Amino acid sequence: MATSTHPDGIADRYDYLIVGSGLFGATVARRATDAGLRCLVLEKRTHTGGNIYCENVHGINVHRYGAHIFHTSDKAVWEFVNRYVEMNRYTNSPVAVAPDGRMYNLPFNMNTFYQMWGVRTPGEAQARLGEQRQEALEAMKAAGVTEPRNLEEQALALIGRDIYLQLIKGYTEKQWGRPCSELPAFIIRRLPVRLTFDNNYFNDSHQGIPIGGYNPLIDALLDGSDVLTGTDFFADRTRWEQMADKVVFTGCIDQYFGYCYGHLDYRTVRFETETIHEANLQGNAVINYTSADVPYTRIIEHKHFEAFGDDVYSNPLTVISREYSAEWHDGAEPFYPVNDSRNSALYDRYKALADATPGVIFGGRLAEYRYYDMAPTIARALAVQL
Ligand code: FAD
Ligand code: UDP
Repeated sequence: MATSTHPDGIADRYDYLIVGSGLFGATVARRATDAGLRCLVLEKRTHTGGNIYCENVHGINVHRYGAHIFHTSDKAVWEFVNRYVEMNRYTNSPVAVAPDGRMYNLPFNMNTFYQMWGVRTPGEAQARLGEQRQEALEAMKAAGVTEPRNLEEQALALIGRDIYLQLIKGYTEKQWGRPCSELPAFIIRRLPVRLTFDNNYFNDSHQGIPIGGYNPLIDALLDGSDVLTGTDFFADRTRWEQMADKVVFTGCIDQYFGYCYGHLDYRTVRFETETIHEANLQGNAVINYTSADVPYTRIIEHKHFEAFGDDVYSNPLTVISREYSAEWHDGAEPFYPVNDSRNSALYDRYKALADATPGVIFGGRLAEYRYYDMAPTIARALAVQL
Protein backbone atom coordinates (compact mmCIF):
# COMPACT_ATOMS: atom_id res chain seq x y z
CA MET A 1 0.00 0.00 0.00
CA ALA A 2 1.23 3.57 0.71
CA THR A 3 4.93 4.28 1.29
CA SER A 4 5.56 3.40 4.87
CA THR A 5 7.60 5.28 7.43
CA HIS A 6 6.75 2.95 10.30
CA PRO A 7 8.57 -0.16 11.43
CA ASP A 8 5.29 -2.08 11.45
CA GLY A 9 4.88 -1.46 7.71
CA ILE A 10 1.96 0.91 7.79
CA ALA A 11 1.34 4.36 6.31
CA ASP A 12 1.06 7.70 8.10
CA ARG A 13 -2.58 8.33 7.37
CA TYR A 14 -5.68 6.37 6.47
CA ASP A 15 -9.25 7.18 5.59
CA TYR A 16 -10.52 4.51 8.00
CA LEU A 17 -9.15 3.02 11.15
CA ILE A 18 -11.04 -0.24 11.69
CA VAL A 19 -10.79 -1.74 15.16
CA GLY A 20 -11.45 -5.48 14.88
CA SER A 21 -11.05 -7.83 11.91
CA GLY A 22 -14.25 -9.84 12.46
CA LEU A 23 -16.97 -10.01 9.86
CA PHE A 24 -18.22 -6.49 10.52
CA GLY A 25 -14.83 -4.79 10.33
CA ALA A 26 -13.72 -6.89 7.36
CA THR A 27 -16.91 -6.19 5.38
CA VAL A 28 -16.57 -2.44 5.93
CA ALA A 29 -12.90 -2.72 4.95
CA ARG A 30 -13.85 -4.42 1.66
CA ARG A 31 -16.41 -1.75 0.81
CA ALA A 32 -14.14 1.11 1.75
CA THR A 33 -11.19 -0.33 -0.19
CA ASP A 34 -13.41 -0.86 -3.24
CA ALA A 35 -14.48 2.78 -2.94
CA GLY A 36 -10.81 3.81 -3.17
CA LEU A 37 -10.46 4.54 0.55
CA ARG A 38 -7.47 3.40 2.58
CA CYS A 39 -8.04 1.25 5.65
CA LEU A 40 -5.91 0.26 8.59
CA VAL A 41 -7.35 -2.72 10.47
CA LEU A 42 -6.22 -3.39 14.04
CA GLU A 43 -6.82 -6.80 15.55
CA LYS A 44 -5.88 -7.67 19.10
CA ARG A 45 -5.92 -11.43 18.53
CA THR A 46 -3.02 -13.09 16.74
CA HIS A 47 -5.23 -13.86 13.75
CA THR A 48 -7.93 -12.13 11.73
CA GLY A 49 -11.60 -13.13 11.41
CA GLY A 50 -12.88 -12.69 14.95
CA ASN A 51 -15.16 -15.52 15.98
CA ILE A 52 -15.45 -17.07 12.55
CA TYR A 53 -11.74 -17.94 12.43
CA CYS A 54 -10.92 -21.55 11.55
CA GLU A 55 -7.80 -23.45 12.50
CA ASN A 56 -6.61 -26.31 10.29
CA VAL A 57 -6.00 -29.38 12.46
CA HIS A 58 -5.06 -32.62 10.66
CA GLY A 59 -6.68 -31.30 7.47
CA ILE A 60 -9.93 -30.42 9.25
CA ASN A 61 -11.15 -26.82 9.51
CA VAL A 62 -11.82 -26.42 13.21
CA HIS A 63 -14.28 -23.64 14.08
CA ARG A 64 -12.08 -22.33 16.83
CA TYR A 65 -14.75 -20.13 18.47
CA GLY A 66 -17.74 -22.42 18.08
CA ALA A 67 -19.81 -23.90 15.27
CA HIS A 68 -20.56 -21.34 12.58
CA ILE A 69 -23.21 -22.07 10.00
CA PHE A 70 -24.00 -19.39 7.49
CA HIS A 71 -27.70 -18.94 6.74
CA THR A 72 -29.75 -16.13 5.28
CA SER A 73 -32.77 -15.20 3.24
CA ASP A 74 -31.18 -11.89 2.32
CA LYS A 75 -30.29 -12.23 -1.36
CA ALA A 76 -27.87 -9.30 -1.31
CA VAL A 77 -25.91 -10.79 1.59
CA TRP A 78 -25.84 -14.25 -0.01
CA GLU A 79 -24.59 -12.79 -3.29
CA PHE A 80 -22.02 -10.71 -1.46
CA VAL A 81 -20.54 -13.76 0.28
CA ASN A 82 -20.61 -15.85 -2.90
CA ARG A 83 -18.56 -13.22 -4.65
CA TYR A 84 -15.59 -14.22 -2.49
CA VAL A 85 -16.11 -17.89 -1.59
CA GLU A 86 -18.01 -20.94 -2.78
CA MET A 87 -20.50 -22.31 -0.27
CA ASN A 88 -21.05 -26.03 0.27
CA ARG A 89 -24.38 -27.77 0.89
CA TYR A 90 -24.10 -28.12 4.68
CA THR A 91 -27.51 -28.06 6.39
CA ASN A 92 -27.52 -27.80 10.14
CA SER A 93 -29.53 -30.61 11.76
CA PRO A 94 -28.44 -30.92 15.39
CA VAL A 95 -29.46 -33.89 17.47
CA ALA A 96 -30.06 -33.59 21.22
CA VAL A 97 -29.22 -36.09 23.95
CA ALA A 98 -31.92 -35.44 26.57
CA PRO A 99 -32.09 -36.03 30.35
CA ASP A 100 -34.20 -39.14 29.65
CA GLY A 101 -31.13 -40.55 27.82
CA ARG A 102 -32.84 -40.59 24.41
CA MET A 103 -31.85 -38.74 21.27
CA TYR A 104 -34.18 -36.22 19.64
CA ASN A 105 -34.00 -34.32 16.37
CA LEU A 106 -33.91 -30.57 16.44
CA PRO A 107 -35.38 -28.10 15.74
CA PHE A 108 -38.79 -29.08 17.09
CA ASN A 109 -40.44 -30.91 14.20
CA MET A 110 -42.45 -34.04 13.39
CA ASN A 111 -39.38 -36.22 14.03
CA THR A 112 -39.06 -34.73 17.54
CA PHE A 113 -42.77 -35.12 18.23
CA TYR A 114 -42.69 -38.74 17.05
CA GLN A 115 -39.66 -39.44 19.26
CA MET A 116 -41.26 -37.66 22.24
CA TRP A 117 -44.89 -38.78 22.02
CA GLY A 118 -45.10 -41.44 19.29
CA VAL A 119 -47.42 -39.19 17.24
CA ARG A 120 -47.23 -39.90 13.52
CA THR A 121 -49.24 -37.19 11.80
CA PRO A 122 -49.31 -33.38 12.00
CA GLY A 123 -52.89 -33.64 13.28
CA GLU A 124 -51.85 -35.89 16.18
CA ALA A 125 -48.87 -33.68 16.97
CA GLN A 126 -51.00 -30.56 16.89
CA ALA A 127 -53.50 -32.08 19.29
CA ARG A 128 -50.69 -33.00 21.70
CA LEU A 129 -49.07 -29.57 21.42
CA GLY A 130 -52.47 -27.92 21.85
CA GLU A 131 -53.05 -29.72 25.16
CA GLN A 132 -49.66 -28.71 26.48
CA ARG A 133 -49.95 -25.13 25.29
CA GLN A 134 -53.40 -24.86 26.85
CA GLU A 135 -51.97 -25.99 30.19
CA ALA A 136 -49.31 -23.25 29.96
CA LEU A 137 -51.79 -20.55 28.94
CA GLU A 138 -54.09 -21.44 31.82
CA ALA A 139 -51.20 -21.21 34.28
CA MET A 140 -50.32 -17.78 32.87
CA LYS A 141 -53.94 -16.67 33.06
CA ALA A 142 -54.15 -17.77 36.69
CA ALA A 143 -51.07 -15.61 37.34
CA GLY A 144 -52.78 -12.67 35.62
CA VAL A 145 -50.33 -12.67 32.68
CA THR A 146 -51.37 -12.24 29.04
CA GLU A 147 -48.00 -12.19 27.25
CA PRO A 148 -45.06 -14.49 28.15
CA ARG A 149 -42.79 -12.45 30.42
CA ASN A 150 -39.72 -14.62 30.19
CA LEU A 151 -38.15 -17.55 28.35
CA GLU A 152 -39.80 -20.17 30.55
CA GLU A 153 -43.30 -18.85 29.94
CA GLN A 154 -42.53 -18.36 26.25
CA ALA A 155 -41.23 -21.93 25.83
CA LEU A 156 -44.20 -23.43 27.70
CA ALA A 157 -46.64 -21.42 25.59
CA LEU A 158 -44.83 -22.30 22.36
CA ILE A 159 -43.99 -25.95 22.75
CA GLY A 160 -45.31 -27.23 26.09
CA ARG A 161 -43.98 -28.84 29.21
CA ASP A 162 -42.54 -32.13 27.90
CA ILE A 163 -40.25 -30.53 25.35
CA TYR A 164 -39.41 -27.66 27.67
CA LEU A 165 -38.19 -30.09 30.34
CA GLN A 166 -36.36 -32.51 28.03
CA LEU A 167 -34.86 -30.19 25.44
CA ILE A 168 -34.89 -26.58 26.60
CA LYS A 169 -34.59 -25.94 30.32
CA GLY A 170 -31.25 -27.67 31.07
CA TYR A 171 -29.56 -26.51 27.89
CA THR A 172 -30.70 -22.90 28.21
CA GLU A 173 -29.78 -22.59 31.88
CA LYS A 174 -26.30 -24.01 31.15
CA GLN A 175 -25.85 -21.70 28.19
CA TRP A 176 -26.96 -18.53 29.95
CA GLY A 177 -26.10 -19.36 33.58
CA ARG A 178 -29.48 -18.02 34.70
CA PRO A 179 -32.90 -19.56 35.35
CA CYS A 180 -35.18 -19.59 32.30
CA SER A 181 -37.63 -17.52 34.32
CA GLU A 182 -35.10 -14.66 34.32
CA LEU A 183 -34.20 -14.76 30.64
CA PRO A 184 -35.89 -12.77 27.86
CA ALA A 185 -38.47 -14.62 25.78
CA PHE A 186 -36.97 -13.68 22.40
CA ILE A 187 -34.00 -16.06 22.77
CA ILE A 188 -36.21 -19.08 22.20
CA ARG A 189 -38.41 -17.52 19.53
CA ARG A 190 -35.66 -17.96 16.97
CA LEU A 191 -36.05 -21.77 17.05
CA PRO A 192 -38.53 -23.06 14.47
CA VAL A 193 -41.49 -25.27 15.46
CA ARG A 194 -42.61 -27.33 12.45
CA LEU A 195 -45.30 -29.82 11.66
CA THR A 196 -43.21 -31.44 8.91
CA PHE A 197 -40.46 -34.07 9.05
CA ASP A 198 -37.78 -31.46 8.42
CA ASN A 199 -34.64 -31.39 10.58
CA ASN A 200 -33.19 -28.25 8.99
CA TYR A 201 -32.39 -25.98 11.94
CA PHE A 202 -33.00 -22.85 9.90
CA ASN A 203 -35.89 -21.57 7.81
CA ASP A 204 -33.68 -19.42 5.59
CA SER A 205 -33.54 -19.89 1.83
CA HIS A 206 -29.72 -20.07 1.75
CA GLN A 207 -27.37 -22.04 3.98
CA GLY A 208 -23.86 -23.47 3.85
CA ILE A 209 -20.25 -23.24 4.94
CA PRO A 210 -17.53 -21.75 2.75
CA ILE A 211 -15.53 -24.53 1.08
CA GLY A 212 -12.16 -24.34 2.82
CA GLY A 213 -13.65 -22.71 5.94
CA TYR A 214 -14.17 -19.06 6.81
CA ASN A 215 -10.58 -17.82 6.58
CA PRO A 216 -10.62 -17.42 2.76
CA LEU A 217 -13.69 -15.19 3.14
CA ILE A 218 -12.00 -12.94 5.68
CA ASP A 219 -8.77 -12.86 3.62
CA ALA A 220 -10.73 -11.75 0.56
CA LEU A 221 -12.55 -9.05 2.52
CA LEU A 222 -9.34 -7.70 4.00
CA ASP A 223 -7.41 -7.82 0.72
CA GLY A 224 -6.06 -4.32 0.02
CA SER A 225 -6.26 -3.14 3.65
CA ASP A 226 -3.27 -2.84 5.95
CA VAL A 227 -3.77 -5.22 8.86
CA LEU A 228 -1.96 -5.36 12.20
CA THR A 229 -2.75 -8.44 14.30
CA GLY A 230 -1.71 -8.74 17.94
CA THR A 231 -2.50 -5.03 18.30
CA ASP A 232 -4.95 -3.79 20.91
CA PHE A 233 -6.42 -0.40 20.02
CA PHE A 234 -6.58 0.56 23.70
CA ALA A 235 -2.87 -0.04 24.25
CA ASP A 236 -2.08 3.08 22.18
CA ARG A 237 -5.43 4.68 21.52
CA THR A 238 -4.24 8.24 20.87
CA ARG A 239 -1.72 7.14 18.26
CA TRP A 240 -4.27 5.14 16.29
CA GLU A 241 -7.02 7.75 16.51
CA GLN A 242 -4.72 10.39 15.07
CA MET A 243 -3.98 8.26 12.02
CA ALA A 244 -7.41 8.23 10.40
CA ASP A 245 -10.27 10.53 9.55
CA LYS A 246 -12.89 8.01 10.61
CA VAL A 247 -12.99 5.09 13.02
CA VAL A 248 -15.02 1.91 12.73
CA PHE A 249 -15.11 0.37 16.18
CA THR A 250 -16.20 -3.27 16.56
CA GLY A 251 -14.90 -3.96 20.09
CA CYS A 252 -16.82 -3.71 23.37
CA ILE A 253 -18.74 -0.45 23.60
CA ASP A 254 -18.35 -0.21 27.40
CA GLN A 255 -14.57 -0.45 27.04
CA TYR A 256 -14.56 2.30 24.38
CA PHE A 257 -16.11 4.65 26.93
CA GLY A 258 -13.78 3.58 29.74
CA TYR A 259 -16.57 1.63 31.53
CA CYS A 260 -17.84 5.01 32.72
CA TYR A 261 -21.28 3.58 33.56
CA GLY A 262 -19.95 0.17 34.62
CA HIS A 263 -19.35 -3.18 32.88
CA LEU A 264 -21.77 -4.87 30.52
CA ASP A 265 -22.10 -8.62 31.16
CA TYR A 266 -21.20 -11.25 28.59
CA ARG A 267 -21.32 -14.97 28.39
CA THR A 268 -18.20 -16.68 27.23
CA VAL A 269 -17.61 -20.20 25.95
CA ARG A 270 -14.69 -22.47 26.80
CA PHE A 271 -13.80 -25.05 24.17
CA GLU A 272 -12.16 -28.34 25.03
CA THR A 273 -10.82 -29.54 21.69
CA GLU A 274 -9.51 -33.04 21.14
CA THR A 275 -8.23 -35.12 18.21
CA ILE A 276 -9.55 -38.66 18.18
CA HIS A 277 -8.33 -41.65 16.19
CA GLU A 278 -11.68 -42.44 14.73
CA ALA A 279 -13.02 -41.41 11.33
CA ASN A 280 -16.59 -40.71 12.41
CA LEU A 281 -17.25 -40.32 16.11
CA GLN A 282 -20.77 -38.96 16.38
CA GLY A 283 -22.14 -39.01 12.82
CA ASN A 284 -23.21 -35.38 12.96
CA ALA A 285 -21.51 -31.99 13.34
CA VAL A 286 -23.58 -30.90 16.33
CA ILE A 287 -24.88 -33.00 19.24
CA ASN A 288 -26.51 -30.98 22.03
CA TYR A 289 -26.59 -32.25 25.61
CA THR A 290 -29.73 -30.80 27.13
CA SER A 291 -29.40 -32.26 30.63
CA ALA A 292 -28.26 -30.00 33.48
CA ASP A 293 -26.14 -32.94 34.70
CA VAL A 294 -23.80 -32.86 31.68
CA PRO A 295 -21.43 -29.91 32.15
CA TYR A 296 -21.02 -29.04 28.46
CA THR A 297 -23.78 -27.77 26.20
CA ARG A 298 -22.76 -29.54 23.01
CA ILE A 299 -20.05 -31.47 21.18
CA ILE A 300 -19.02 -30.33 17.73
CA GLU A 301 -17.37 -32.78 15.33
CA HIS A 302 -15.83 -30.36 12.89
CA LYS A 303 -15.21 -32.57 9.86
CA HIS A 304 -18.96 -32.88 9.22
CA PHE A 305 -19.11 -29.21 8.26
CA GLU A 306 -17.17 -29.93 5.12
CA ALA A 307 -17.19 -33.70 4.52
CA PHE A 308 -20.30 -35.53 3.38
CA GLY A 309 -21.11 -39.17 2.66
CA ASP A 310 -18.07 -41.44 2.20
CA ASP A 311 -15.81 -38.39 2.22
CA VAL A 312 -16.16 -38.37 6.03
CA TYR A 313 -13.95 -41.49 6.09
CA SER A 314 -11.16 -40.15 3.88
CA ASN A 315 -9.49 -38.79 7.01
CA PRO A 316 -8.96 -41.46 9.72
CA LEU A 317 -8.86 -38.75 12.40
CA THR A 318 -11.55 -36.50 13.76
CA VAL A 319 -11.50 -33.33 15.87
CA ILE A 320 -14.20 -32.59 18.41
CA SER A 321 -14.86 -29.62 20.72
CA ARG A 322 -16.89 -29.76 23.89
CA GLU A 323 -18.46 -26.36 24.63
CA TYR A 324 -18.74 -25.09 28.19
CA SER A 325 -20.64 -21.89 28.70
CA ALA A 326 -19.49 -19.52 31.46
CA GLU A 327 -19.83 -15.98 32.77
CA TRP A 328 -17.31 -13.68 31.19
CA HIS A 329 -14.22 -12.85 33.26
CA ASP A 330 -11.19 -10.71 32.50
CA GLY A 331 -9.03 -12.33 29.82
CA ALA A 332 -11.82 -14.49 28.35
CA GLU A 333 -13.44 -13.74 24.98
CA PRO A 334 -16.79 -11.95 25.37
CA PHE A 335 -19.14 -14.03 23.19
CA TYR A 336 -22.80 -13.45 23.91
CA PRO A 337 -24.30 -10.19 25.14
CA VAL A 338 -26.67 -10.78 28.06
CA ASN A 339 -29.85 -9.02 27.02
CA ASP A 340 -31.56 -8.86 30.40
CA SER A 341 -33.10 -5.64 31.66
CA ARG A 342 -30.05 -4.44 33.63
CA ASN A 343 -27.69 -4.86 30.68
CA SER A 344 -30.14 -3.53 28.12
CA ALA A 345 -30.61 -0.34 30.16
CA LEU A 346 -26.86 -0.01 30.61
CA TYR A 347 -26.27 -0.48 26.89
CA ASP A 348 -28.83 2.24 26.11
CA ARG A 349 -26.73 4.67 28.12
CA TYR A 350 -23.57 3.74 26.21
CA LYS A 351 -25.48 3.95 22.93
CA ALA A 352 -26.45 7.53 23.75
CA LEU A 353 -22.74 8.32 24.19
CA ALA A 354 -21.94 6.57 20.89
CA ASP A 355 -24.60 8.60 19.08
CA ALA A 356 -22.95 11.74 20.40
CA THR A 357 -19.48 10.69 19.19
CA PRO A 358 -18.90 12.05 15.66
CA GLY A 359 -16.52 10.29 13.27
CA VAL A 360 -16.89 6.88 14.91
CA ILE A 361 -19.09 4.08 13.57
CA PHE A 362 -19.95 1.51 16.24
CA GLY A 363 -20.82 -1.79 14.59
CA GLY A 364 -21.04 -5.53 15.10
CA ARG A 365 -21.82 -7.85 17.95
CA LEU A 366 -19.74 -6.22 20.67
CA ALA A 367 -20.11 -2.56 19.78
CA GLU A 368 -23.88 -2.85 19.35
CA TYR A 369 -24.23 -5.36 22.20
CA ARG A 370 -26.50 -7.46 20.00
CA TYR A 371 -26.81 -11.20 19.39
CA TYR A 372 -26.03 -10.88 15.65
CA ASP A 373 -25.65 -13.87 13.37
CA MET A 374 -23.17 -13.59 10.52
CA ALA A 375 -25.65 -12.60 7.81
CA PRO A 376 -27.21 -9.69 9.77
CA THR A 377 -23.69 -8.61 10.70
CA ILE A 378 -22.84 -8.36 7.00
CA ALA A 379 -26.15 -6.66 6.24
CA ARG A 380 -25.39 -4.02 8.86
CA ALA A 381 -21.88 -3.52 7.49
CA LEU A 382 -23.24 -3.18 3.96
CA ALA A 383 -25.63 -0.48 5.18
CA VAL A 384 -22.93 1.65 6.83
CA GLN A 385 -22.67 5.07 5.19
CA LEU A 386 -19.05 5.45 4.18
P1 FAD B 1 -16.31 -10.51 16.20
O1 FAD B 1 -16.23 -11.73 15.35
O2 FAD B 1 -16.34 -10.70 17.67
O3 FAD B 1 -15.11 -9.55 15.82
C1 FAD B 1 -14.69 -8.48 16.61
C2 FAD B 1 -13.19 -8.43 16.53
O4 FAD B 1 -12.72 -7.24 17.18
C3 FAD B 1 -12.52 -9.60 17.23
O5 FAD B 1 -11.62 -10.22 16.35
C4 FAD B 1 -11.80 -8.94 18.40
O6 FAD B 1 -10.60 -9.60 18.77
C5 FAD B 1 -11.53 -7.56 17.86
N1 FAD B 1 -11.32 -6.54 18.90
C6 FAD B 1 -12.12 -6.29 19.95
N2 FAD B 1 -11.60 -5.31 20.70
C7 FAD B 1 -10.46 -4.92 20.10
C8 FAD B 1 -9.45 -3.97 20.41
N3 FAD B 1 -9.53 -3.23 21.52
N4 FAD B 1 -8.39 -3.82 19.59
C9 FAD B 1 -8.29 -4.61 18.46
N5 FAD B 1 -9.20 -5.56 18.14
C10 FAD B 1 -10.26 -5.70 18.94
N6 FAD B 1 -23.54 -16.73 13.48
C11 FAD B 1 -24.14 -17.41 12.48
O7 FAD B 1 -24.59 -16.80 11.50
N7 FAD B 1 -24.22 -18.77 12.51
C12 FAD B 1 -23.74 -19.51 13.53
O8 FAD B 1 -23.84 -20.74 13.53
C13 FAD B 1 -23.12 -18.82 14.63
N8 FAD B 1 -22.62 -19.49 15.67
C14 FAD B 1 -22.01 -18.81 16.70
C15 FAD B 1 -21.48 -19.54 17.75
C16 FAD B 1 -20.84 -18.88 18.79
C17 FAD B 1 -20.25 -19.68 19.93
C18 FAD B 1 -20.75 -17.47 18.77
C19 FAD B 1 -20.08 -16.74 19.91
C20 FAD B 1 -21.28 -16.75 17.73
C21 FAD B 1 -21.91 -17.41 16.67
N9 FAD B 1 -22.42 -16.71 15.57
C22 FAD B 1 -23.03 -17.40 14.55
C23 FAD B 1 -22.32 -15.24 15.49
C24 FAD B 1 -21.07 -14.77 14.74
O9 FAD B 1 -19.91 -15.20 15.42
C25 FAD B 1 -21.12 -13.24 14.66
O10 FAD B 1 -22.25 -12.84 13.92
C26 FAD B 1 -19.89 -12.58 14.00
O11 FAD B 1 -18.71 -13.12 14.46
C27 FAD B 1 -19.94 -11.10 14.30
O12 FAD B 1 -18.80 -10.46 13.79
P2 FAD B 1 -18.26 -9.14 14.50
O13 FAD B 1 -17.24 -8.58 13.58
O14 FAD B 1 -19.38 -8.28 14.91
O15 FAD B 1 -17.60 -9.64 15.85
N1 UDP C 1 -31.98 -24.14 22.81
C1 UDP C 1 -32.45 -25.13 23.65
N2 UDP C 1 -32.08 -26.42 23.42
C2 UDP C 1 -31.27 -26.77 22.39
C3 UDP C 1 -30.80 -25.75 21.54
C4 UDP C 1 -31.17 -24.44 21.77
O1 UDP C 1 -33.16 -24.85 24.58
O2 UDP C 1 -30.96 -27.96 22.26
C5 UDP C 1 -32.37 -22.74 23.12
C6 UDP C 1 -31.37 -22.03 24.00
O3 UDP C 1 -32.10 -21.18 24.87
C7 UDP C 1 -30.58 -21.20 23.05
C8 UDP C 1 -31.65 -20.82 22.03
O4 UDP C 1 -32.48 -21.99 21.95
O5 UDP C 1 -30.03 -20.07 23.67
C9 UDP C 1 -31.10 -20.47 20.67
O6 UDP C 1 -30.37 -21.57 20.20
P1 UDP C 1 -29.34 -21.45 19.03
O7 UDP C 1 -28.82 -22.80 18.72
O8 UDP C 1 -29.98 -20.66 17.94
O9 UDP C 1 -28.24 -20.55 19.74
P2 UDP C 1 -26.71 -20.31 19.40
O10 UDP C 1 -25.99 -21.51 19.90
O11 UDP C 1 -26.62 -20.11 17.91
O12 UDP C 1 -26.42 -19.12 20.18
